[in-house]
Amino acid sequence: MELLDKLAILADAAKYDASCASSGTQLRDSRSGGLGSTEGAGICHAYAPDGRCISLLKILLTNACMYDCLYCINRRSSNVARARFSVAEVVELTLGFYRRNCIEGLFLSSGIIRSPDHTMRQLVEVARTLREEHGFRGYIHLKTIPEADPALLAEAGLYADRLSINVEMPTQAGLDALAPEKDLPGIRQTMARLRQAIEAPRVKGVRRFAPAGQSTQMIVGADSSSDAEILGASTSLYSSYGLRRVYYSAFSPIPDASSALPPRPAPLLREHRLYQADWLLRFYGFVQDEMPVGADGNLPLGMDPKLAWALAHREAFPVDVNTAGREALLRVPGLGVRSVERILVARRHSRLRLDDLARLRLSLAKVQPFVVAADHVPRVTDSVRLECVLPRLGRPGAQLELFH
Ligand code: SF4
Repeated sequence: MELLDKLAILADAAKYDASCASSGTQLRDSRSGGLGSTEGAGICHAYAPDGRCISLLKILLTNACMYDCLYCINRRSSNVARARFSVAEVVELTLGFYRRNCIEGLFLSSGIIRSPDHTMRQLVEVARTLREEHGFRGYIHLKTIPEADPALLAEAGLYADRLSINVEMPTQAGLDALAPEKDLPGIRQTMARLRQAIEAPRVKGVRRFAPAGQSTQMIVGADSSSDAEILGASTSLYSSYGLRRVYYSAFSPIPDASSALPPRPAPLLREHRLYQADWLLRFYGFVQDEMPVGADGNLPLGMDPKLAWALAHREAFPVDVNTAGREALLRVPGLGVRSVERILVARRHSRLRLDDLARLRLSLAKVQPFVVAADHVPRVTDSVRLECVLPRLGRPGAQLELFH
């Protein structure tokens, strides 16, 4: 098979892994004209530790796999064309795209062939060849196979910037139903080992182990797990293994799917709400029990979880932007981490008025009903304005009586 034919198959097969890609937008491609695609095959974007957005060649080493995870297009029983790159081919492609300035790094994953050790050894060999034989300084993200020999994982971390293991389902029951060959305790044990190496004190002259840390992905909506269960699993993964990111990937049906899977895709909005909740847990001081889940354990789809929390906790508002602490300000809908920092700095010099907040580039429509400023106390008119905002969020006229 020609290299380009392999690339077409193995870049397309890699697009199902959302753990480095932008997601949540419309599907578009250029088959009927125009330029570009949002389908995430071939080149994806990731964020470097310093916050830069970088382009990565995103491919699988092979889409053949000895496992049979029902949600996966590459599973053993799937009826798809198979291809396999050699180590030299992946190295050649990466260097070729890199020299032509198309990419800044490589995201390499793989189906499992022959054995976890055999596959992991090949992934490591790609990274080693790039680093040691070609002096490649670009970003490398390697998928890690938890069942592989710990010595291979230790070697992978010396060449890769980031390592990741996908847990895919939040519970072992979910894995038992859809991916019986996967073992959650084994995955967690490997994550613990990686954490230890990532956080080990630096030794002068020794390459730092996976400096961009480790991440994982969970599929949303392939099993019956609720948002509360998914966020519970994420919270535990962040705190136990110091993960940099948990990525959420809304389930989309695959060809010849098992009847154990839902026939329809999970709403992309659900994935988006989980990301918003994840940020509240990591950066806004919320704890898992505060997530505004309904009786079914799911977040409301029609409203961002921070607004939903605020509407359910009217006693916490209004918050005075001139006196409130950072924690209280972070809970105000419409205020992000950066805008809170800007408020804390700006109020050292004068008492803030609504105009000052507008100059800080905040959305007054969102913020006004929840804050007190030097020239503003929320009144009925603000509640009415909020009522105007809410129908756009899919929740018409929910609380005219916010503060009154
Ligand atoms: S091990 Fe990975 S590639 Fe293989 S079937 Fe499962 S999810 Fe797919």
